[in-house]
Amino acid sequence: MNKDIYLTNSFGNKKEKFIPIDNNKVGMYVCGPTVYDDPHIGNARPLVVFDILYKLLKCKFGEKKVTYVRNITDIDDKSIKSSIEKNISTQKLTEEITKNFHDDCVYLACEKPTHEPKATENISLMIEMVNKLIENGYAYLNKQHVYFEVKKFKDYGKLSNKNLEELIAGSRVEISENKKNPEDFVLWKPSKENEPFWESPWGKGRPGWHLECSVMSKKYLGNKFDIHGGGRDLIFPHHENEIAQSRCANENDSFANYWVHNGFITMSNEKMAKSQGNILKITDLKNKINGQVLRLALMTTHYKQPLDWNDKLIKECQNTISKWYESYVELKKKVLVPDELLSPLYDDLNTPGYIANLHKLFEKSQKGSLKDKEVFVSACNFIGLLSESKNKWESFKKSKAEISEKEILEKINERNRARDDKNYNQADKIRNELLDKGISIEDKDGKTIWKFK
Ligand SMILES: [Zn+2]
Repeated sequence: MNKDIYLTNSFGNKKEKFIPIDNNKVGMYVCGPTVYDDPHIGNARPLVVFDILYKLLKCKFGEKKVTYVRNITDIDDKSIKSSIEKNISTQKLTEEITKNFHDDCVYLACEKPTHEPKATENISLMIEMVNKLIENGYAYLNKQHVYFEVKKFKDYGKLSNKNLEELIAGSRVEISENKKNPEDFVLWKPSKENEPFWESPWGKGRPGWHLECSVMSKKYLGNKFDIHGGGRDLIFPHHENEIAQSRCANENDSFANYWVHNGFITMSNEKMAKSQGNILKITDLKNKINGQVLRLALMTTHYKQPLDWNDKLIKECQNTISKWYESYVELKKKVLVPDELLSPLYDDLNTPGYIANLHKLFEKSQKGSLKDKEVFVSACNFIGLLSESKNKWESFKKSKAEISEKEILEKINERNRARDDKNYNQADKIRNELLDKGISIEDKDGKTIWKFK
């Protein structure tokens, strides 16, 4: 099997063989959350996608040789606005949301990144980078604002493969009389009264949003590194601006070598948006659905494609995990996942292909030996599934069941009476009612046994 990893590089939009700068030091930076509101299901997708890529990179290059950096944006317009509305300090709000975000990561069984820097802890480095950009002639100061002068950077727009006119036409550019040109973006701006601020050579103020990723990727991964990830919506302007800042400040001809972007999530084929009122927060799902089901659902579509979130998908994933637990065994020691099984993941993180392999492997394990079951569980573990014991999975289902044990037994008795009266329609109706509540029943040796699906 070809054990090279292939990834679709948004830069050039081609699938390419992944060759790190240094095999012993693979670096990945992923844009993390802006902590102004609880994360929604759209935020969950990159968490899971890049968690799998992280696992795959560690498998290929070695546990200790991969550095995964994911930032926390804890200062920006949205968090300031939200904290004013809630009448709490921005710091209190962002700390609360960061905690909720971490809880969501645990719920989704995502590994912690190697580093998780916060924007507010790196302001001095941001000031340093702005100074460098001014010094190198790419940025200018006007009325306590510092702007990046886009037209000075000749490669602007290369990631989105658009020229400046197209980019400006297709986006909402902030109009300001302080700017030389409409496309210029802010690196530093003065804070208004009651807003958080930091002292700087240009007065009391705060950084523009894009700056932090340029600074924090440099801090942990250097001027040039391997993979930069995030959602598709970040390509422009965020990632174009990161490239512009980093290359001009570091006087470098490249920044990240591979740009990996995940697609959007739609809700029953509609765009997820505040205005549509269909934003689904992760925390709202916690009480109803096991995190593994969510995790599997997020992997059912290739990361580049849009993923449609709907009840049918969740139900199917719930049934799949339930079924897979029939082959669950506790692993006493690490069991290697055979390479040929992993091959879809090596090929541009093809999770649907890997899930298809898991289905086949499950069938084999049902008929096979303990060893087959061990390989199956280990292959599920590889992508963060079946990582909790069968007991834990069962008890979660039990605790969330819409029906008590007593009611189940009453229903079964009712069904048996209907069967005795040869009223099979009624008996089937009761069986279906139970199925709808997540309970399956089976008649065996004159007895009826039931279990959670
Ligand atoms: Zn970023």
